[in-house]
Amino acid sequence: QTPTSLPLRVEGLAKQFGGITAVDGVSFEVEAGSLTGLIGPNGAGKSTTFNCITGVHEPTAGNVYLNGEEITGLAPYEIAQRGLVRTFQIARELSEMTVLENLMLAPKHQLGESAIRSVLPGLRDDVVDQEEELRERAWETLEFFEIDHLATEYAGTLSGGQRKLLEMARVLMTDPEVVLLDEPLAGVNPTLEEKLLDRIHDLRAEGYTFLFVEHDMDVIMNNCERIIVMHQGRVLAEGTAEDIRNNEQVIEAYLGE
Ligand code: ADP
Ligand code: MG
Repeated sequence: QTPTSLPLRVEGLAKQFGGITAVDGVSFEVEAGSLTGLIGPNGAGKSTTFNCITGVHEPTAGNVYLNGEEITGLAPYEIAQRGLVRTFQIARELSEMTVLENLMLAPKHQLGESAIRSVLPGLRDDVVDQEEELRERAWETLEFFEIDHLATEYAGTLSGGQRKLLEMARVLMTDPEVVLLDEPLAGVNPTLEEKLLDRIHDLRAEGYTFLFVEHDMDVIMNNCERIIVMHQGRVLAEGTAEDIRNNEQVIEAYLGE
């Protein structure tokens, strides 16, 4: 793949908060249709890197490219409109809506008011009821994640694991190309964890690209074909699970926690 055809490329990314350097010159690439893992001990700079890529933070230095197009410093909704979407914890106001409503509102929330059209191509006001299309798509997505039986429950009543499935389902409703997952398995019981990982693998097989941030090394080792290890704001190592498992510097970084 040439650099311009890579779905996601980060070059010399840096972020400082006052005197603290959270990310210190990070460069990496994510290949199309891959499940790439980003790991590192607590405080390594994983979340800050994520936030710089998705427009939550403006980087102090460096560039982010999506399909070869620079997206550095764009607003989160602009980046989402271009196809790079991250999971978000269900905010309080969404807890007071049903699971189905959460899905139907997801494109509006993540992509902006006028964006539902981009998710439902080919719609013509005079022919199709937009809300009906959206509802149908929401049901399909609920079924895919096997949470359709929860459609009329309030999101706030879901278990931790069910919430994570809902967060993933909301992302899917925006018709993304690249999906960023920040600790999608945190607080999820083993049964739902397996289900969530299965769905991620299904979607990857369909051509979605994932960047998966996790603190838990084993989950990344067992599921990602390429792994990037961060430590103290920098990329410490990169490679397959086998490469990473045997890397002395990586072992040391985790032992030092
Ligand atoms: P990770 O996600 O790998 O645990 P973070 O990106 O959250 O790491 O944090 C990296 C470093 O940046 C830490 O030292 C953290 O304290 C610091 N940091 C993160 N966000 C902020 C912030 N908003 N203000 C100040 N320091 C921050
Ligand atoms: Mg983090």
